[in-house]
Amino acid sequence: MDTIKMVDLHSQYLRIKPEIDEAIQQVLTSTAFIQGPEVNIFAQSLSRYIGGSLVIPCANGTDALQIAMMALDMKPGDEVILPVHTYVATAEVIALLGLTPVFIDVDKDTFNIAPALLESKITEKTKAIVPVHLYGQCADMEPILHIAAKYNLHVIEDVAQALGADYTFADGTTKKAGTIGTVGTTSFFPSKNLGCFGDGGAIFTNDKALGEKIKMISNHGQKIKYHHDIIGVNSRLDTLQAAVLNVKLNYLDGYAQRRNDAATYYDKALASIPTLTTPRRATNSTHVFHQYTIQVSDGLRDNLKSHLEAHGIPTMIYYPVPLHLQKAYKRAGFEEGSFPVTEELSKTVLSLPIHTEMKEEELEYISGTIKKFFHG
Ligand SMILES: *Cc1c(COP(=O)(O)O)cnc(C)c1O
Repeated sequence: MDTIKMVDLHSQYLRIKPEIDEAIQQVLTSTAFIQGPEVNIFAQSLSRYIGGSLVIPCANGTDALQIAMMALDMKPGDEVILPVHTYVATAEVIALLGLTPVFIDVDKDTFNIAPALLESKITEKTKAIVPVHLYGQCADMEPILHIAAKYNLHVIEDVAQALGADYTFADGTTKKAGTIGTVGTTSFFPSKNLGCFGDGGAIFTNDKALGEKIKMISNHGQKIKYHHDIIGVNSRLDTLQAAVLNVKLNYLDGYAQRRNDAATYYDKALASIPTLTTPRRATNSTHVFHQYTIQVSDGLRDNLKSHLEAHGIPTMIYYPVPLHLQKAYKRAGFEEGSFPVTEELSKTVLSLPIHTEMKEEELEYISGTIKKFFHG
């Protein structure tokens, strides 16, 4: 058996090498490295894929969040509510813009923002809610949208881990993650479900005027070259990355299927271990399994991690230190115990290898090694 990897980008590349190499070669020949035609082609194709929302490509997923917040005219001191169980980028851009990150705990089963806690966090200064669709499935958007409408708040969906997931409303209609709120942001970091060969990101919106503004901000605040109407940033998707993404977008649903197949295998194989909980599927979202994250109770998580490592199986902890306990974000009121679910998750979660190239023998070996750890 080959070395087991968390993500196998090399084998994935080999499967589609001729197409990718040709796409890259075309850009090299044209030398249109910035704003080449591939960028717009990709924006159009991704827009079709997500159901017609505008797509504005940018340099990475962190910039996407920042540009979205800049476009929504939030002022220093404004409060933005976000889950405390997330990647740091979400909180980082809020703080960078002088806004105040207001953390909220998550649901212990779905790992996503707990809508029932939202209203208690809303003040006069609240301007936006940032649901993060963590590990590959949508946060419960319908109640979030109701609360946002009631208090006149923007909803910025962080879709970096859930591109392609579908959310189903109570009336049966479905929408793609990132097209449900005011604006959606995503990342094409190589290991994301739709990954390029470097950094990349995009912003989604259904609001034409907002889309226009986002486009300007991402390109130095200009619509016409050298005419800067608003303050912007330099955050563009490279043509080379767009060329790669144009190829890979065609495979995204197939990739999600392969990730789901691996997840289903794990679900069955690991079902009967009392101290281990397999990921719960939300009833109103499909799952694209960016991560397959189990919870291990009785303080056994770190032992299991070491056991797997000793058997050549990599695992990751997303995330080992909750944001409110990070040095950069520590504030009064953020003591240990402030966000019990997230704190518990930081001690119990473990993400197993999952990617588009998982082989049955690998899944069998990983599950078998886990079962041996618990049952001897
Ligand atoms: C990866 C990720 C980001 C940031 O994306 P980059 O492209 O690495 O800047 C933001 N939010 C979440 C939830 C992520 O997983």
